[in-house]
Amino acid sequence: MAEAGKQQTMEFQAEVKQLLDIVINSLYTDREIFLRELVSNAADALEKLRYRTITDKEVADPDLPLEITIEVNEQDKTLTISDTGIGMTMDELVENLGTIARSGSKAFLQQLAEADKKDLNLIGQFGVGFYSAFMVAKKVRVLTRSFAPGAEGCQWVSDGLGSYSIEQVQDLTRGTKIILELKDDAGEFASPDTIKRIIKRYSNFVPFPIIMGGEKI
Ligand code: ADP
Ligand code: MG
Repeated sequence: MAEAGKQQTMEFQAEVKQLLDIVINSLYTDREIFLRELVSNAADALEKLRYRTITDKEVADPDLPLEITIEVNEQDKTLTISDTGIGMTMDELVENLGTIARSGSKAFLQQLAEADKKDLNLIGQFGVGFYSAFMVAKKVRVLTRSFAPGAEGCQWVSDGLGSYSIEQVQDLTRGTKIILELKDDAGEFASPDTIKRIIKRYSNFVPFPIIMGGEKI
């Protein structure tokens, strides 16, 4: 595994490459569902953390509020989704964002590959929702630190084209931050109004506060 200060390049598993190839190169009916998937992952991570605080004696940064924060930068065309949830260790990053674990995803891939216009609406049900970020992002950066006390922070970066790089990073607090560098034709997702509308539409019942610009949305 990558050591401190050393970056390591890793190949995606073959099925992930196949999925990403479709996600990156196709036309879609509903690109905005990527946000629902990332917010749902953030909420899952917060739920897992909440459970850990009951069962485990110690979690890192115990005073952090359990919430999701969204930041946009219209100039740089970036969108950032952060949570103070369970986070990931380096091994978990490689396992969770480099491979497809769940059976059934092959059938989904097959079905996707055959459809003319791709409908990724069901992607979450096949355990691969994270990769939908590449519908709108040319580069995805994940900064994460596990809840386990003493865990190292780590970074995962990819353009979705076959490989990703990982490295340890210092000074992260508990949880996960996902930074999307938006594609040239996806600049609308750096607009606060667009984000608010999508959150209201798809993430209205998320049981944690979602904060943007210092306000709950
Ligand atoms: P699913 O959510 O159905 O498991 P995803 O492709 O959406 O599938 O995510 C894959 C895995 O990556 C998750 O199961 C989780 O372990 C990990 N993951 C994704 N986002 C986060 C996050 N914000 N915090 C912690 N773990 C995450
Ligand atoms: Mg998910």
